Amino acid sequence: MSEQIAIDTDGTWVVPDNPKIAFIQGDGIGADIWPGARMVLDAAVAAVFRQQKKIDWVPVLAGEDSFRHNGQRLPAETLETIQAFKVAMKGPLATPVGGGIRSLNVQIRRHLDLYACIRPVQYYPPVPSPMTHPEKVDMVVFRENTEDVYAGIEWESCSSGSRQLMHLLRTHLDCDLPDSCALGLKPISPEKSKRLVKKACEYAFENNRKTVTLMHKGNIMKFTEGGFCRWGYEAAFEHFGDKMITEKKLYETHEGIIPEGHVVIRDRIADMVFADVLLKPEQYDIIACPNLNGDYISDALAAQVGGLGIAPGANIGQTCAVFEATHGTAPDIAGKDMANPCSMILSGAMMLDHLGWQAAGDAVRQAVGRALAGGCVTPDLAARLSGVEEVSCSRFSEIIKQSLLAGA
Ligand code: NAD
Repeated sequence: MSEQIAIDTDGTWVVPDNPKIAFIQGDGIGADIWPGARMVLDAAVAAVFRQQKKIDWVPVLAGEDSFRHNGQRLPAETLETIQAFKVAMKGPLATPVGGGIRSLNVQIRRHLDLYACIRPVQYYPPVPSPMTHPEKVDMVVFRENTEDVYAGIEWESCSSGSRQLMHLLRTHLDCDLPDSCALGLKPISPEKSKRLVKKACEYAFENNRKTVTLMHKGNIMKFTEGGFCRWGYEAAFEHFGDKMITEKKLYETHEGIIPEGHVVIRDRIADMVFADVLLKPEQYDIIACPNLNGDYISDALAAQVGGLGIAPGANIGQTCAVFEATHGTAPDIAGKDMANPCSMILSGAMMLDHLGWQAAGDAVRQAVGRALAGGCVTPDLAARLSGVEEVSCSRFSEIIKQSLLAGA
């Protein structure tokens, strides 16, 4: 009998052996990648835990599928089920252009308060990369998911809203702007910055990582991005005390060598981070940043190791977590069994880690690595590699499963 995941009064997650997990297959290539992903994840759990554990996947509706059934793209029932089950996997969802339809992804993150977008970036040879040494990229981006310019508070140029706000700015805040300006707000709060940085630091300690870099543009936006940086340092020391070390202290008292069990907290200006991750990627480990910086850097890093088709992602809150492929619905190849399923499968590995089933998550990551190195790849990679055999999405998922069973 399957059960729902519970959370104890002290915040500990209690995961039964047969947890109910919600899944949204997704639009476009969702139907191509999901069956293979599910097969690989089920095989990993069965093999690693010798049939003692099993996921009960419960489908929930969202996107075009849902619209066809009930005229709603994101029914309340879907959000309620995810909230009740606490963990979900999600394929890509299309956002129709125009017509004022808000991104379903943003709605899901907002509604469930999934405040941390976590994107591990790691290289899998022989995936083609524009870098000379892509193997030096091994980072995890923690992007604040609920604030910043993504709060969606803006007014169109010459609208009644922008005129009213302009009037307030002129008359009360000594701030003069051209009449035609569109205006937007960039809210960044201490509470939400701190919970994100705490999560990033927790991850660093739990996964034996060495540095947490606060990526910000506080030299220009002193109170918003500068605030994020200041509150980030505060959160690190409030929660982890003298286990955290600043760079200054590292060099003054430890000769630049990080003592066992410690994590270095430091900050870097956003534009410098973009240069550094290309020129000296080995110096970056965990990156914690506000929403917009995180959006840019996570996709840029994914490109450095071969693209979005293989980059996994998770959106995590206090009581709920949704694991998702980071690419979109790829309408140009949907239904053709050509998509690369790795992003979805590796997001599933993150989900297994989150359940506390790391051995199964590791088995999936290793199997993906072996499968990619084995010479058979999906068309997106085959087009950029020589000496490989092009295989379909379903065939490649099967190869990953076979590699997993052989390695278990
Ligand atoms: P996209 O990621 O769907 O496609 C960009 C390019 O990458 C296309 O050429 C596509 O074929 C290719 N691609 C993407 N994933 C691939 C995979 N797994 N294997 C092989 N090739 C892959 O981005 P887009 O075209 O800008 O967006 C299409 C739709 O997806 C839009 O409606 C957009 O709103 C939505 N979208 C959803 C998400 C999400 O649900 N998380 C993210 C981004 C875009």
